[in-house]
Amino acid sequence: RRAEFAAMRDLPSVTQDGARIELMVNAGLRDDAQALDVVGADGIGLFRTEFQFLVSSTLPQREKQQRLYKDVLDAAGDRPVIFRTVDIGGDKALPYMQRENEELEDNPAMGWRALRLALDRDALMKAQARALLEAAAGKVLHIMFPMVSEPWEYEEARALVEHQREWLVKQRKKVPIAVKYGAMLEVPALAEVLDILLPRVDFLSIGTNDLTQFLFAADRAHPRLAERYDWLSIAIVRFLDRVVRACEAHKVPVGVCGEMGGRTLEAMALIGLGVRRLSITPASVGPVKAMIRSVDVTALQVFMRDMLDGRVVDIRGSLSQWAADKGV
Ligand code: PEP
Ligand code: MG
Repeated sequence: RRAEFAAMRDLPSVTQDGARIELMVNAGLRDDAQALDVVGADGIGLFRTEFQFLVSSTLPQREKQQRLYKDVLDAAGDRPVIFRTVDIGGDKALPYMQRENEELEDNPAMGWRALRLALDRDALMKAQARALLEAAAGKVLHIMFPMVSEPWEYEEARALVEHQREWLVKQRKKVPIAVKYGAMLEVPALAEVLDILLPRVDFLSIGTNDLTQFLFAADRAHPRLAERYDWLSIAIVRFLDRVVRACEAHKVPVGVCGEMGGRTLEAMALIGLGVRRLSITPASVGPVKAMIRSVDVTALQVFMRDMLDGRVVDIRGSLSQWAADKGV
């Protein structure tokens, strides 16, 4: 089916009944931007900026960061790139970064990482904000923050970037024509305060890798647990349904950028919940687009709704049966 997926590159990502699904890719290195054209994606839905920090033996200077961001934006052309601010710390430790007391963490995934670290060590975050703002001068900058646990963390991060933007304006430097701010939903607690968070964001991106590890209290990298809990378990599907409903109510665009969205059946379930933007690994774009082009999303949404009432326990089995029956 390889040739079939390749032929699909230039076809629109639209369902049988005309719903447009944005298919974006996850990226992290300069060359990843080439994948956009190779697979025919709508943009980069998650650019993991920490990759540059992880492959470097010293802290990448602001100019170096800026060059990378500009190259990626240039390669993307008119297509949006959503930059995620550094998600380091915990298991993604930087050898050149001094940690207070050099403390070791028992639970690095739940530790001092991502936005927590970035807000506490804000010199790093300020430099990155400057690099992003200058790289996107004259364009729209999309920026999102990882591991937001409470709305004030998002607010503080946004204020920090805004402060840099205002400073650049004062220096008469060119800035982006607009900055769109997003939060990643990876910590379950954030789902309980969406009424507070959503009015303040331009978009929400669900990181299902971390989210499911925290929902099930199951290490995402543990080989014994890898197959134990299903992304299509009723707990996850109901949880995501509530989040998508809240975003719809607040008219906030919501996407999924975890690996879940790159699996065909999982992607189908997400679309059935109302998700209209997926950011996935480039290799999954062909298969997922093929699914999208063969599905009737109106019927799918009705079917998903019926499954959420709890009478269907095996969502995976029922959904794949439904897909087979409908010729998806
Ligand atoms: C996620 O947690 O789902 C995510 C997209 O971020 P990462 O995989 O980089 O933690
Ligand atoms: Mg994550």
